[in-house]
Amino acid sequence: MADFDDLLEANRAFADSFNLGGFDGVAKAGIGLVTCMDSRIDPLRMLGLSHGDAKIFRNPGGRVTEAALEALVLGSHLLNVQRILVVPHTRCAMASRSEAEFHALLDEKTGQDTTWQPIHVITDQVAALRHDVMKVRSHPLIPETVKIAGFIYDVDTGLLHQKA
Ligand SMILES: [Zn+2]
Repeated sequence: MADFDDLLEANRAFADSFNLGGFDGVAKAGIGLVTCMDSRIDPLRMLGLSHGDAKIFRNPGGRVTEAALEALVLGSHLLNVQRILVVPHTRCAMASRSEAEFHALLDEKTGQDTTWQPIHVITDQVAALRHDVMKVRSHPLIPETVKIAGFIYDVDTGLLHQKA
């Protein structure tokens, strides 16, 4: 099982100087964040946050899915989330191809029919973001005191642009 040796070695080095034990796991800075899985996004650093500050939910496209809502309901009632940011980003793969194009690519890579696997593409990012922010804002179990906003993160400048 050498496949993960490099990571386990890095983990041992991490644990050697680990001083974050005993923390209760609430969002210390009161932040909940829904964003894309894209590797160009460094969620804590882009907001000036650090370890323990935020509850972060990521998926392809940074969409407010049922699972994201579950996270935000738990976060806002049990984990100190007081401000929620929904943050898709520029040059997102999920907004650059149709579902048919994704399936054609995956069919080619896998040599099989992949159409049974849903791929949730985004045709209009700003419209999708506004819709997602509304979904959070209108959720009956998200307290009205929680602040909610939507931003597009520019992966080339590092800036957030508010859109909702
Ligand atoms: Zn993305």
